[in-house]
Amino acid sequence: MENNSYDLIVLGGGPGGYRAAERAGAQGKKVLLIEKENLGGVCLNHGCIPTKTLLHSAKLYRHGREGAQYGVHFEEARFDLSAAMKWKARVVDTLIKGVAYQMKRFNVTVVQGVGSFVDRSTLKVGNDTYQAKKVIIATGSSPVIIPIPGADRENVVTSRQILEITKLPESLVIIGGGVIGMEFASFFSSLDIKVHVIEMLEEIVPVLDPEIAKALRKANPDIDFTLGARVEKIDDQGVHFTKDGSPGLIGGELVLMSVGRRPNTAGIGLENIGLDIGRSAIGVDEHMRTNLPGVYAVGDVTGKSLLAHCAYRMADVAIKDLMGQAARMRYNAVPSVIYTLPEAASCGLSREGAEGAGFEVRTANLPMRANGRFLAEFDREPGFCKIVVDKQSNVLLGVHMVGGNCSELIFGAAMMIEAELRVQDVKDIIFPHPTVSEIIPDTLWELGH
Ligand code: NAD
Repeated sequence: MENNSYDLIVLGGGPGGYRAAERAGAQGKKVLLIEKENLGGVCLNHGCIPTKTLLHSAKLYRHGREGAQYGVHFEEARFDLSAAMKWKARVVDTLIKGVAYQMKRFNVTVVQGVGSFVDRSTLKVGNDTYQAKKVIIATGSSPVIIPIPGADRENVVTSRQILEITKLPESLVIIGGGVIGMEFASFFSSLDIKVHVIEMLEEIVPVLDPEIAKALRKANPDIDFTLGARVEKIDDQGVHFTKDGSPGLIGGELVLMSVGRRPNTAGIGLENIGLDIGRSAIGVDEHMRTNLPGVYAVGDVTGKSLLAHCAYRMADVAIKDLMGQAARMRYNAVPSVIYTLPEAASCGLSREGAEGAGFEVRTANLPMRANGRFLAEFDREPGFCKIVVDKQSNVLLGVHMVGGNCSELIFGAAMMIEAELRVQDVKDIIFPHPTVSEIIPDTLWELGH
């Protein structure tokens, strides 16, 4: 039993779990990480990384076809799904090995299997039991499947299954125009596959500033959208829905269901320990503590945010807290990125969100085409930057962008918002020229000269 005693047990080896294990191990704690599949979780195996790898292939294919405008001619741009999938597998494999290396480097013991609670400080995996004073639950989330007739048909897939297809479909219907739906819509439509997105709300990607979401939709004229529609069933004919009280039908070879994800709280013995599971997610405070002393939860399972980078931060906060250092989780400067073509990125409050929170705001918009580097490289893409500022203090509240490599710019906005910079503070920063990052000070300048 002595050997099975740890300072910390982490349940789940995704971004929240492996980050927590690594950080605690690096500080000399004896750590056990329990993972039932590969290290890396959904993000590395079936989410962030494989989708970005495939989207890169799609982007290259697009560049190949559109090169002539920039004076580069290719004989024939051809997309090879099996080679793209091999490239994806290689990237994923390299990163899994990287996580395993970090675990070894910081003396984290990794056990493969399904872990579940026996009591608050004891977990079992198969016939083995392990004990620790502290436990971090990082079991992630799974796709929601709406319980409609036909949801279990063979041609209806989740984001995980669609990453394993061996043949491109002729057409794809996507139920749910959120983050996952739009990233796959971009990927498949870039390969000339007919894509139709059915979204329940009146605009796609509700997490985005509405103006940015609309611009993203308009930037994809090859994708068909049906908004404000309620999906009723799926059969041989296709996906049936109701919109404005009238029935509708969209046929497609493959159907992707991407209507959100729910925390994984079942099958891990939570009922044995009296943990507060609210409606479906594990309740945590700003230190990532649950209602049980010594038990923390981080990442998707908390339902607070379903972003890998949030899980990383939650893990940092939990580890600091259990090491007796001050830390608290804040959500006001969490960047969101949609890796569509074009990309969209945002951090902080939208105008509507800020006004709802009681701020009086000023906003400025600037088209990306005002930016030299953007014009040189992304001429075909529409795009703009929108900044929301508190009228009273001039502090930046939100930065929203669509177009170009805005995924790589948004961290700058996160730093500005986190540091509560004012307009005049940002104006004092020297931005490299020519880069798309200059769109941020240039948009701020539009607020008043
Ligand atoms: P989501 O919440 O982003 O979008 C789901 C969409 O489905 C919403 O627009 C919703 O209105 C719609 N919807 C719900 N029920 C519907 C129905 N019955 N019919 C039609 N539309 C319906 O969820 P997601 O796209 O599944 O992604 C899940 C989570 O994964 C997100 O919360 C996101 O944080 C995370 N994620 C992030 C990234 C990224 O950061 N780039 C990428 C992928 C996933």
